[in-house]
Amino acid sequence: MNIALIAHDSKKELMVQFCIAYCGILSRHELCATGTTGKLVAEATGLHIQRFLSGSQGGDQQIAARMSCNEIDILIFFRDPININYQEPNETQLLRLCDVHNIPIATNIATAEALIHALERGDLDWREIVKD
Ligand code: PGA
Repeated sequence: MNIALIAHDSKKELMVQFCIAYCGILSRHELCATGTTGKLVAEATGLHIQRFLSGSQGGDQQIAARMSCNEIDILIFFRDPININYQEPNETQLLRLCDVHNIPIATNIATAEALIHALERGDLDWREIVKD
């Protein structure tokens, strides 16, 4: 499965901790991320991550383009719901694309954990079948 990771600045440490905790599961999948998120997670976990541009440079739009091409199976996007930073990716477009393409998305740690367990159980294998 192709998993995309994005974290707003105030959630990057949470993303790193999440990826450390589930490193074993994540290592069996293809990972991509916006620039800084990918750098921090790769440094902390040793996971191989395809890094796009930073969010402020359009990295979220690179991920959105891949979602449109059916190349992303799960999006984990830890956003800051309190402090709006206009340089950071806006979730509206990404959430819309997830709904258009039926891509499971987690915007907080509780849902991310539920998704990662579902992934491990094989509950999301239908995405591979739909692609064929
Ligand atoms: P980054 O992009 O991972 O490059 O920081 C996401 C963001 O800008 O919040």
